[in-house]
Amino acid sequence: MAKCKICGGYTKYTNGYCLKCYKIKEEMKKTPLIKNITKKEEKARAKATPQARKIHDALRTKEVPSFLELWDKHKHIDVAIPKYGINIEVDGEYHNTRPKQALADLKRTYYSYKKGFFTLRIPNSLVEKHFEECVDLIIEIVNLNKNKE
Ligand SMILES: [Zn+2]
Repeated sequence: MAKCKICGGYTKYTNGYCLKCYKIKEEMKKTPLIKNITKKEEKARAKATPQARKIHDALRTKEVPSFLELWDKHKHIDVAIPKYGINIEVDGEYHNTRPKQALADLKRTYYSYKKGFFTLRIPNSLVEKHFEECVDLIIEIVNLNKNKE
């Protein structure tokens, strides 16, 4: 058994990638505008959810300097735009239906905001149903923060 060149997990495939990372690599070919993906970013892609990757790729394509799975010393942020102080958390349904999770999320939002990072919570359902509008609005918010510079 060989190790996957991206995530380090074991793979039975001879190309050096596990099935998940191979699919993510193939998916990258559909977004040719994203250049200079580092090894570190490739690893981050493997950890991100498809919805987070979709948002990240759309932002990058529009030249917003976004990063997947960025570490803020407490947890990994799904999609981060550190230059403009914006964190994006792409959430599954349980974030809304479980009060304990919702409270933990609100606390994180508070601590991030104290450090100057505004958190946007985007439910998966929004990515799936109103993707274009969702990305356009994120870019509007980024632009508002750009003007503060
Ligand atoms: Zn892998």
